[in-house]
Amino acid sequence: MKLTEQDLQRYSRQILIDGFGKEGQLKLKNSTVGMLGCGGLGTATSIYLAAAGVGRLILADSDKPDITNLNRQITHYEYDIKNKRNKADSTKEKLSEFNSDIEIETYTKNVNEENIEKVFEKADLIVDCLDNFEDRYMLNSYCVRTNKPLIHAAVYGFYGQLTTIVPEKTACLKCIFPSPPPQIKIFPIIGVTAGLFGILEANEVIKYITGVGKSLFNKMMLIDLSENEVNMIKTERNKNCPVCS
Ligand SMILES: [Zn+2]
Repeated sequence: MKLTEQDLQRYSRQILIDGFGKEGQLKLKNSTVGMLGCGGLGTATSIYLAAAGVGRLILADSDKPDITNLNRQITHYEYDIKNKRNKADSTKEKLSEFNSDIEIETYTKNVNEENIEKVFEKADLIVDCLDNFEDRYMLNSYCVRTNKPLIHAAVYGFYGQLTTIVPEKTACLKCIFPSPPPQIKIFPIIGVTAGLFGILEANEVIKYITGVGKSLFNKMMLIDLSENEVNMIKTERNKNCPVCS
């Protein structure tokens, strides 16, 4: 696909960025990004990927929004709760109104080992917008198996972490976290944390696809928003990793 006159206008301000140009925009247009989860992270990520002109999004979530989600899951409105809408469908509806030039596919059943290949078959890159490590490990294994880059973020309260995983090149999620952190079913979270990390995930996607800037390869960024503390730690591949070695 080529860029249209409307694309050149709509994305003119980002095309001006050094190293981005029309080529970068065309790369975004011709990319398919898969996102697992349309919650706090996923709703923010998806809006900014739609805004940037990523050509096709695959949104997967089997859940329906409830009132406790609305402090952070910004594509679900009160009427979506009343109408018992699915989260992926609710997100698609808002994004389609916002940017009618992009294609959005939804998957509204639970994604598991059996169907993940099919759900994300067309995706060039995957974004982890999940809230638990069981599903994250499944997603990580799938990305390693199929050699697809994975953008990982996780949030808790005012705290979040972010890294970009490229199979065979960087540590995978299992190298970084050999065992899952304790899972709390209902954990504290404020919208600004999920929103910021969703946007940071979109930023990693955009940089990876366009080749602009530096990606978080073998690095994890940790931010504590309550104290305004930013830390960067190095990550390393584990030669004995059961997933990627
Ligand atoms: Zn690994």
